[in-house]
Amino acid sequence: MNHKPKQKKNDSIWVMFAWGLNIAGVLAILLVVLAYFYLQNVSAAPPPTTRPIFTITVPPTYTQDPASLWLPTITPNPRSTMIVVQSPTPFVIPNFAMQANARISVAGYSVSGRPIEVYTFGNGEKEKMIVAGIHGGYEWNTIALADELIQYIFQHPEIIPRDVTLHIMRNMNPDGDARDHGVDGRVNDHGVDLNRNFPANWAKTWDRNGCWVLTPTTGGTGPGSEPETKAVMYFLQSHKIETLISYHSAALGVFPGGVPWEEESIQFSKALSKATGYPYPPIDTGCVYTGTLADYAVELGITAVDMELSTHKYTDFERNLKALEVLLNWE
Ligand SMILES: [Zn+2]
Repeated sequence: MNHKPKQKKNDSIWVMFAWGLNIAGVLAILLVVLAYFYLQNVSAAPPPTTRPIFTITVPPTYTQDPASLWLPTITPNPRSTMIVVQSPTPFVIPNFAMQANARISVAGYSVSGRPIEVYTFGNGEKEKMIVAGIHGGYEWNTIALADELIQYIFQHPEIIPRDVTLHIMRNMNPDGDARDHGVDGRVNDHGVDLNRNFPANWAKTWDRNGCWVLTPTTGGTGPGSEPETKAVMYFLQSHKIETLISYHSAALGVFPGGVPWEEESIQFSKALSKATGYPYPPIDTGCVYTGTLADYAVELGITAVDMELSTHKYTDFERNLKALEVLLNWE
């Protein structure tokens, strides 16, 4: 009877020890399970790479200021309006661009490395083209017009006929545009008049009678010497462009391409003149034009014109919307 309490004490120690083992076991199992789920979660986490980003650049919106002759007010600054779409898969195109079937490409780079962008709309077999800004910031309003047309097409994609593809090169001379919105903005960063640099009746220099004389310019070191010219030449040679408008300012009217003027381009000039009210035949200042884009395009079999806006101040948007319709529907 004496040892009974002692034995009870021993029993309770064993029971406590067994419980301790049980609890430790359960805790160990819990730990293993938690560790398992933790490791599972870690391995399921996305890899630390950034997802592909598709960036679409919307041209700037220009506000025309009637009080200033040369300097436009630009709202916002060029290149600042940007829609960035972060998507789980590459090349998800914003809806407005999708509807207009829009693609944005870079045809080449300027002397100072600025991109020469082309906005392309539609998928038809008849390719048409607008080139703006060949004379840079001196004719900044042609670039502003191109941007207005691009934004209009984003909003009204139905104006592109099913059988047409339209390319708009919004600014062929971005270095001149960046340098000055005035006479100093006309040439590229080699001092070359790009509309004198094409390999069609090319000349290094020319008789300045009746021609532009406000700053020194050259035709380049040779036909097609400039990177901006090469970009356009390559683009025209690698597409089947049927009809082309090269925009200028100001006031002289619509010039058919070709030396002498090519017949189909004359008919196109007349139709554009009728739609816009710009003079045809164009005003003859006595200047002889060499190495022009329109003459080069005609040599490639393209119906082409140089068309001048009425001033250096305005885009003449309504008139050029009519010109766009003539271009899109020209057979
Ligand atoms: Zn010009």
